[in-house]
Amino acid sequence: MNNPVVLVVEDDVPVRNLIITTLKTHDYKYLTAKNGAEAIMMASSHNPSVVFLDLGLPDMDGIDVIRQIRSWSNMPIIVISARSDDNDKIQALDMGADDYLTKPFSVEELLARLRVTVRRLVLMQSVDGADHSTYTNGKLTIDYAAGCAYLDGEELKTTPIEYKLLCLLAKNTGKVLTYTYITQNIWGRNWDNDIASLRVYMTTLRKKLESAKDSPRYIQTHIGIGYRMLKVD
Ligand code: CA
Repeated sequence: MNNPVVLVVEDDVPVRNLIITTLKTHDYKYLTAKNGAEAIMMASSHNPSVVFLDLGLPDMDGIDVIRQIRSWSNMPIIVISARSDDNDKIQALDMGADDYLTKPFSVEELLARLRVTVRRLVLMQSVDGADHSTYTNGKLTIDYAAGCAYLDGEELKTTPIEYKLLCLLAKNTGKVLTYTYITQNIWGRNWDNDIASLRVYMTTLRKKLESAKDSPRYIQTHIGIGYRMLKVD
């Protein structure tokens, strides 16, 4: 992925200009759309690598833009929304968005989110057609066929639920997974107390995963939203 093309969907001119200038300065190619209809048209006709999508658009809800794009494409979508709209963010992620950026955001934050997403793209492409039976990320290895995880060559002693959690996060490396998405996948339901249980399992899993000396941080917490497995070197 040498030159990813970013589709910037934003009706607010100063914000759009800030994003465009940032992309330009860092040698990213870009396209722009100022409303939902244009966004869907540009996404289908130009097949961009990544979409930055403002949720508050003049003609339609950004959530509907995600729904439409997801009906035919898995292109990464990073939503942009105001700090007060946590529910919108969660809804967008559950609808298939990959990540989110909160307004007001810094240029560094924007670039960091873009890098994570581009790495995820590269990872997805390298996984396509490759061996799906094992997963490697830094010192972490998962042998899906054997049902075992290893850290630095040592077997990770996980409980069945911790292992399921680890696999779910690994299979979605780079993507923010909401509490609802995780609990649905682990327990097949979504009760309020499942989130509390999830936190407990996540704490014990992390203790095992992140305790090794010099170990990088694998799992990122998104307060009030969910978790993400990061691709580490
Ligand atoms: Ca807007």
